[in-house]
Amino acid sequence: MDWFRHENIRAPRGAELHCLGWGQEAALRMLMNNLDPEVGEDPAHLIVYGGRGRAARSWQAYDKIVETLLRLENDQTLLIQSGKPVAVFRTHRQAPRVLIANSNLVGKWASLEEFNRLEDLGLTMYGQMTAGSWIYIGSQGVIQGTFQTLVALANQHFGLDHLAGRLYVSAGLGGMGGAQPLAAKMLDGVALIAEVDPHRIERRLTSGYLDAALTSIPDAVHRALEAKAQGESLTIGIQCHANQLLDYLRQERIIPDVLSDQTAAHDPLAGYIPDELSVGDAARLRAKDPEEYVKQARSSIARHVENLLALNAAGAVTFDYGNNIRREAFDAGVANAFDIQGYVPASIRDLFSEGKGPFRWAALSGNPADIYRLDDLALEMFGDNPLLRRWFSLARRYIQFQGLPARIAYMGQGERDAFGLRTNQLVADGTLGAPVVFGRDHHDTGSVASPYRETEAMMDGSDAIADWPILNAMLNVASGAHWVAFHHGGGTGIGYSLHAGANTVADGSSESAERLARVLWNDPGLGVVRHADAGYEKSKQTLSAFQDRFDTPLLGPTRVPKQE
Ligand code: NAD
Repeated sequence: MDWFRHENIRAPRGAELHCLGWGQEAALRMLMNNLDPEVGEDPAHLIVYGGRGRAARSWQAYDKIVETLLRLENDQTLLIQSGKPVAVFRTHRQAPRVLIANSNLVGKWASLEEFNRLEDLGLTMYGQMTAGSWIYIGSQGVIQGTFQTLVALANQHFGLDHLAGRLYVSAGLGGMGGAQPLAAKMLDGVALIAEVDPHRIERRLTSGYLDAALTSIPDAVHRALEAKAQGESLTIGIQCHANQLLDYLRQERIIPDVLSDQTAAHDPLAGYIPDELSVGDAARLRAKDPEEYVKQARSSIARHVENLLALNAAGAVTFDYGNNIRREAFDAGVANAFDIQGYVPASIRDLFSEGKGPFRWAALSGNPADIYRLDDLALEMFGDNPLLRRWFSLARRYIQFQGLPARIAYMGQGERDAFGLRTNQLVADGTLGAPVVFGRDHHDTGSVASPYRETEAMMDGSDAIADWPILNAMLNVASGAHWVAFHHGGGTGIGYSLHAGANTVADGSSESAERLARVLWNDPGLGVVRHADAGYEKSKQTLSAFQDRFDTPLLGPTRVPKQE
């Protein structure tokens, strides 16, 4: 095995251990998996997804991380400071093997401009959510969320649980955005997605996330409308700027049924291509004059949101899908940008309230059969949950694995730990080919403060309170997750969110069972508590349903006494 290869990286598969324990081994394999060309968007630059979300700061840092994980002992902990390994400390067996802090800045300095300056000095890197915390699993990582969001909107606006005969329009076919067409297809709808970069379109075609690619906007729109009229499901990527497609739709008075965007607008320097520039010209201007680039990107983003608002006013069900495009447009002068609804209050909050979120697992064996066996286990354990039932049958039918086989499922309180422990038994008795790692997106119930996304419009106004993700990270460390990360930035950009992630391995041992039982209960549990504290009824019901396992001394607002 050439551990220090920088091209065509592929995580080792199988039951052979290369590190001194499965905690280190899983972190190593998942780091490498993030940079597998099947998985990461631009591995040559260590970019995994979401604009410039990186797995490590530099190739030198990557090599040192790998070298250290290979020798890390079972009572040691490696510390990563924004993608760079800085120290190994003696801790204890049940402590995390790796602790990661990425992109964090003191509040007053938390601007994109300051971040760019510090990145240029070699002092930080952008960790996004699962890029710098080594648990990205390709476009599958967001697809169930996209599916859930679209079902909830179809329900609210059309009284349906599908999108048959409906047109979904959006932009961006990157790491996360690439999930949009497949989610629409799972709901029998038609999707038209604008994407400037032909390589991204190609990637989605080969991975089965997209049916067709066209360069002519009128032809693409025509085919989409035909499919919609016939109730057929069809997904088309159009090589064009978002505004070109939206201008055309407005000019022709074609109103999509559902409308959104997943360009990486949260990062106007690295994630959004201005209207007048090709991908190549954009790269040149970005390198030569970043300030001019950001100016042009922000002006295109403003026009983009004006287009979304106009189509929204004309009847398209329009939602912000977590890329902070509204705030970027608002800062560029679009005063009513926030007339567009955010997707979390519209559809995901209910799930978060019950402790449900994008939980995931990856088979370190590399064998898809292990994931299918775990699909069966999930259906056996939770088959009476119609949402999970529907999801597993769709995932089995439509999702091609990228890199190590993995599965995502919105499991909630009481489900994640039960499932983790049963999986650990299947590893112990040899049913599965190798250990399984459990992790999740930072976009989860109790692990993020992001006032334009996960915590937008909280019932008690606590949108910007960031104690919760910090408590989440500390709780996961105390509970013994194998690796824990705390990041700033993520999906909505520098200055707009703080969030934590935690990953734990089921290696079949009793020690793993203890760690899994604690982490997979406590981690979503804090989300339930956070939402109960904010007043959500479903969370209070979840607390009552598990009253013997929760102890919550004081919830709800408590004012500091005023001095007379
Ligand atoms: P990415 O950087 O991998 O892809 C962005 C894509 O947008 C690229 O393919 C790029 O070519 C394309 N693009 C840029 N400007 C364009 C334009 N003007 N017109 C058409 N296409 C354009 O990013 P990603 O991982 O796909 O994430 C997209 C956004 O979604 C990010 O802001 C990310 O933070 C956010 N996100 C949301 C969620 C969620 O749960 N809703 C989850 C993760 C990420």
